[in-house]
Amino acid sequence: MSRIAETAPPTILRVAVPVPLPTLFDYRPPPGMRATDIAIGARLCVPFGRGRRVGVLVGVQAHSELAPERLKAAIAVLDREPLISRELLASLQWVARYYLHPLGEVLEAALPAGLRRTREPPVAGDAALMLAPGAAESPASARPGSASAALLQLLAAGPMRIAALDARLPKWRGAAAHLRRRGLLVATRLPTPEPPPVRIDPPPLTAEQDAAVGTIAAAFDRYAPFLLEGITGSGKTEVYLALAERALARGRQVLVLVPEIGLTPQLLRRFRERAAGRIHVLHSDLADGERTRAWLAAARGEAGVILGTRSAVFAPLPRAGLIVVDEEHDASYKQQEGLRYSARDLAVVRAKALEVPVVLGSATPSLESLANAESGRYRRLTLGSRPGAARPPTFRVVDLRGKRLEDGLAPELLAAVRSCLARGEQALLFRNRRGYAPVLFCHACGWHAACARCDKPLTWHRGAARLRCHHCGAEATVPTRCPQCDAAELKARGLGTERLEQTLLRRFPGVPVVRIDRETTRRREGVDELLNRLAPDQPGIYVGTQMLAKGHDLPNLTLVGLIGVDEGLFSVDFRAGERLCQLVVQVAGRAGRAFKPGEVWLQTHHPEHPLLRALLRDGYAQVARGLLEERRLAGLPPFAHLALLRAEAVTPAQVETFLAAARHLAADPAGVELIGPMPSPMPRRAGRHRGQLLLRAGERAPLHAFLPTWLAAVRELPAARRVRFALDVDPLDLY
Ligand code: ADP
Ligand code: ZN
Ligand code: ZN
Repeated sequence: MSRIAETAPPTILRVAVPVPLPTLFDYRPPPGMRATDIAIGARLCVPFGRGRRVGVLVGVQAHSELAPERLKAAIAVLDREPLISRELLASLQWVARYYLHPLGEVLEAALPAGLRRTREPPVAGDAALMLAPGAAESPASARPGSASAALLQLLAAGPMRIAALDARLPKWRGAAAHLRRRGLLVATRLPTPEPPPVRIDPPPLTAEQDAAVGTIAAAFDRYAPFLLEGITGSGKTEVYLALAERALARGRQVLVLVPEIGLTPQLLRRFRERAAGRIHVLHSDLADGERTRAWLAAARGEAGVILGTRSAVFAPLPRAGLIVVDEEHDASYKQQEGLRYSARDLAVVRAKALEVPVVLGSATPSLESLANAESGRYRRLTLGSRPGAARPPTFRVVDLRGKRLEDGLAPELLAAVRSCLARGEQALLFRNRRGYAPVLFCHACGWHAACARCDKPLTWHRGAARLRCHHCGAEATVPTRCPQCDAAELKARGLGTERLEQTLLRRFPGVPVVRIDRETTRRREGVDELLNRLAPDQPGIYVGTQMLAKGHDLPNLTLVGLIGVDEGLFSVDFRAGERLCQLVVQVAGRAGRAFKPGEVWLQTHHPEHPLLRALLRDGYAQVARGLLEERRLAGLPPFAHLALLRAEAVTPAQVETFLAAARHLAADPAGVELIGPMPSPMPRRAGRHRGQLLLRAGERAPLHAFLPTWLAAVRELPAARRVRFALDVDPLDLY
């Protein structure tokens, strides 16, 4: 029986369907088709429940566990050629296994929405019109002098875009309708023209840049991971550009990942100025159609450079030549909900599958990447100086202890801002809190406004006249009197960017202050536009959150003030120290990028804190070494591997019962340590109680050997029905 079964021809389709179930689904081929005629990686429209879904064919086989009469037939095959290449499908299957996430949902995360619907994918290119085949042979088919004749004559030279027709023959539409009815014209598509190239010649590379480019280019055509560690302003982007030019010249595709959408316009501009190939942008903020077109352009190999944020790591790359991850340390590469993947890690996985070099670039590399460089898994390349006359900024620490402050600003810092402005230069003040004040409290009785669903203070947004919870998004009106004692003495405590802006406007009348945070960029202007509000030679002040840490060059920016970074010194998060150092260095790196020297002022109540002292004295690379040593001693990543089971529910008991049962199921797995259950660092959010169970392993193999069977059993727990839970492999934070 089984021998016959093994040789039987495959008749069953194995389909990944985007539903939150960790299995594949079996279907019969659509009527009249054979299973083997359908390409692996093609999309299928299949019946599911009472509706239909778009799934992807991942395999064919001879048998199904379902009885034949229960097997449904797929409704239609949507792609004749596989939409998902063999490599991409294999990489997505790796993602599904590694992050223990249903393959159907991984595919859903990877595909633009336009390709997940049951409709045909949009055709790439601009709408155009051409003569029907054969029509060219009968030129006299319209009355001479008519619009139809003029249109036929225009199109005799070849297909034309609608926009061009509008310009050449304003009356073409009526004529075209008539000619199409007679079968003389047909609609077609022409590739969207590149914007006219504004080629700018590259600067001659510095010796360090040249060495980096040479080393990486020598590894074209094979998998080779590099860590490009270059101080801020050292010209890492020039290295990417030079490499992209070389890859394109070889007819290869280049994938460039950046952490934030706000960074794509300027990088896009730099690539346009330099690179010859077609450049496509791919990120989740694009309209569906645009995103689908960019994805298809990549899949067809038309896109030379694909520039995008996190999800662009799933771009199809049939002619892959190079992958670049800029600012590789950035936390936004990690998706924090649903499929919790790390685009940086995935970029390396894909580079391996595609056999191409991958460059992870940063001025402040993650400890993970540094450890990989130390162990020799990544090859380390460094850029230690800024090209030309630009020099790294000098640091000054302002000891805040016992000092009288004006809205959180020390007199020295205010004086420094004043003289910076007097020199006609620009200052940047960094504060990582949006809103006016993090706390609104009653001076009479001590009450403060808190989110009833999170037990955390509400932030006062004074301009908007709202109290907002930065954890769950809840909003409330601002009370005029204390709800507890009815006093009219409500006061702001703490400093947000909005308050900083007000203070500076008051302190420096007539000086433009540009605030850059999630609120000001939510309106039409992006970070880039806001940074352009000040002319390069105009004195002024930028105020903002970490959105300011990156962005285009501001040659006249010579002073950076860091306000309220102390919170990062005492966080429970084991990555807080690393993050703080990265932030300080990145923000500081904005100063003095051109000819003028820059200065960085750091306000703190803890000038003696060892981390701050070490950072300012020895620099990031040295501090990172120390932090790595601490992680090694504490048994934390990158020297251990973590997975976090998070759960939330209406009552604390439901969370506890579930996590305790999950822990009990685990028994005593070899090589894996279970820590907890314990409440989350933030035990309540949006009205739900939260808890977690941490899994730690010295080696990755035992952890990944343990997780699949355990998670499958956890899913079956009766207590699982009363909680929402998710497993986070390689969690970035333990919140
Ligand atoms: P990073 O990406 O490391 O922050 P960039 O590539 O943006 O650095 O370079 C910083 C500045 O230095 C930019 O204005 C860039 O045009 C300039 N620059 C980079 N490389 C060179 C070079 N070889 N010669 C002259 N200017 C350069
Ligand atoms: Zn009160
Ligand atoms: Zn809340």
